[in-house]
Amino acid sequence: MGSYPRVLIAGGGIGGLTAALALARMGCEVAVYEQAAELREVGAGIQLAANGTHVLYALGVGEALKALSCEAEGKEIRIWNSGETWKLFDLGKVSIERYGYPYLTVYRPDLLGVLERAVRSEKRALIHLGAKCIGFQQTETSVTLQLENGSTVDGDVLVGADGVHSRIRQGLFGPDKPQFTGVVAWRGIVPMERLPRHMVRMVGTNWVGPGGHVVHYPLRAGKVMNFVGALERSDWQVESWSARGTTGELAADFAGWHDDVHALIRNIPVPFKWALMVRPPMERWSVGRVTLLGDACHSMVPFLAQGANMAIEDGYIMARALTELPGDVGSRLKAYENARRERTRRAVEGSADNIQRFHNRALADPARAREYVSREWAGAPIAERYEWLFRYDVTTAELD
Ligand SMILES: Cc1cc2nc3c(=O)[nH]c(=O)nc-3n(C[C@H](O)[C@H](O)[C@H](O)COP(=O)(O)OP(=O)(O)OC[C@H]3O[C@@H](n4cnc5c(N)ncnc54)[C@H](O)[C@@H]3O)c2cc1C
Repeated sequence: MGSYPRVLIAGGGIGGLTAALALARMGCEVAVYEQAAELREVGAGIQLAANGTHVLYALGVGEALKALSCEAEGKEIRIWNSGETWKLFDLGKVSIERYGYPYLTVYRPDLLGVLERAVRSEKRALIHLGAKCIGFQQTETSVTLQLENGSTVDGDVLVGADGVHSRIRQGLFGPDKPQFTGVVAWRGIVPMERLPRHMVRMVGTNWVGPGGHVVHYPLRAGKVMNFVGALERSDWQVESWSARGTTGELAADFAGWHDDVHALIRNIPVPFKWALMVRPPMERWSVGRVTLLGDACHSMVPFLAQGANMAIEDGYIMARALTELPGDVGSRLKAYENARRERTRRAVEGSADNIQRFHNRALADPARAREYVSREWAGAPIAERYEWLFRYDVTTAELD
């Protein structure tokens, strides 16, 4: 093996493709094995904060993504029933002034499309579709990835970027035991022209209420609004991007919420639901020449909007560790893991903390609700919850 390893990546989602692009740009040969026949993310939105867009700019795809996205002017907090509104923070120009990079709201298929085109333009990178990974074996000198079609491929390093139900994680550590949070997340896309005029704004909004919250933000240059509605209920425990519900069931879950929330709900053509699970932070996720990234090793509830941002950061830092550090691949992968453990643990825990913050019972009582929101979303607590996330610089983060 020369100093640059040949890397196999299981999973061509946001994390796997970012890792592939970073590795190829830094000089490695890399091959992605994705189970889907086509690289088409579910039709949903995603928020990419400055820490994530920083990576995409460093990889040369920031402007291409920005052209397809929305740059929200800011974020607001609203009370579930009264609709009273507070500013959460400014984004737009302020994100660039403060953190150097934009805060983008992106349609997931657009993000995957931009990453896929960039990876395919690299001569050192290959993407294999319809390639389901079922296991691996490693020796002192190489790793062999097994595909469902019976074929095998050899490389120097294997990265499991195969998401929350990762086969590679199972191969390393056995079956996991996710715990249901008691929260179900509804999601959907609303054509903007169907919304009342006062709701057609380039801002992200978080509605908070007792036992639930709703997040919505514009996508695709303001043509559609992304909706996520989280609600505490115990009768749905399937962790899936493709489980459908009905607008009737969704409207019933948010009975009593403000008219603006219902204007969104009744205009969602097909709502989907996802049971939110938590997994305890992993102490380690590299063994020998096999490692993990993204949701495969630190899935989190989406209440800091950082799961994909963390997967994107992982990919870049892992590529740096494999190309900048001396030593065998095992020690380089350990350095990657060491650089990521504490930050991702904090994101997992911070996301879970937001369940009780967003769903607080104080929000049931109008007088206490105002006092609660004014305190929790004041400048200092917001800075404490978000600055450490947005300011992270993948290009200079320490590796040892
Ligand atoms: C409702 C909701 C809203 C969210 N909003 C945000 C947000 O605003 N901002 C944010 O940063 N994060 C958000 N997240 C989190 C984000 O979606 C995930 O953290 C992110 O998708 C993780 O990326 P990944 O590449 O690790 O995994 P995935 O996106 O799950 O990709 C894994 C890939 O691996 C493939 N795969 C799986 N198994 C195999 C196999 N055996 N062989 C080959 N391929 C395989 C899959 O097909 C898939 O393409 C949200 C999550 C949810 C549920």
